[in-house]
Amino acid sequence: MACVLNNRSMLDDWQDDWQDEFMESIMMTTEFPARADPATARRLAIDLLPNITRRRADGQAMYFDSELNQALDPLRLQPAVRVRCPKGGCGRGLGFIAIKTQGASIESGNRLSPRSKRIGGIYDLADITQPDGHRTYPGWVEDARAGLGYVFPTGEREGVGSGFDERRQYRCRCGGTYTLTNTELLRLYVGAIALGKAEIPLQLKSAI
Ligand SMILES: [Zn+2]
Repeated sequence: MACVLNNRSMLDDWQDDWQDEFMESIMMTTEFPARADPATARRLAIDLLPNITRRRADGQAMYFDSELNQALDPLRLQPAVRVRCPKGGCGRGLGFIAIKTQGASIESGNRLSPRSKRIGGIYDLADITQPDGHRTYPGWVEDARAGLGYVFPTGEREGVGSGFDERRQYRCRCGGTYTLTNTELLRLYVGAIALGKAEIPLQLKSAI
């Protein structure tokens, strides 16, 4: 038994090392397009908004629609956008969202990373829970599993067998709850860029 445990431990160590090297190689070889200046980003976002549809930005399409993904590339290092409770008289901040480095998918974050680490996109996002070695889930999901934060996974969007928990529910202290798909969050994020805003209410009939 001790031998099995030992072997498992060695395997775990090997996997950890391999994953570290793999991630380092990705970081070194992945070239992100330079962050578009605000005017360019705004123009790109306005052009892009009509193309962000449920068919293209939920389920597996969010990773395989190369046209949509390439159109998003210049926006991937735009600053994270703060989302707010849309209920009148509330307006509390409910964390931040950003586009992931790959895929037409949105990452949530309950807080911002230290200012010195903010280079845009997901690098602006931070979690409440502290990483302890490798995390099994995205940071906001780790927070949710610990009962912390504003946002909780609610599985796939109905009718989309993507295998990804892209749909999520935001919960405000005022009692408001807002469940949004990846498509809806992506429209809000790109909509904020189109409006030149650093924050946006979590409602789909906002100004976008
Ligand atoms: Zn609220």
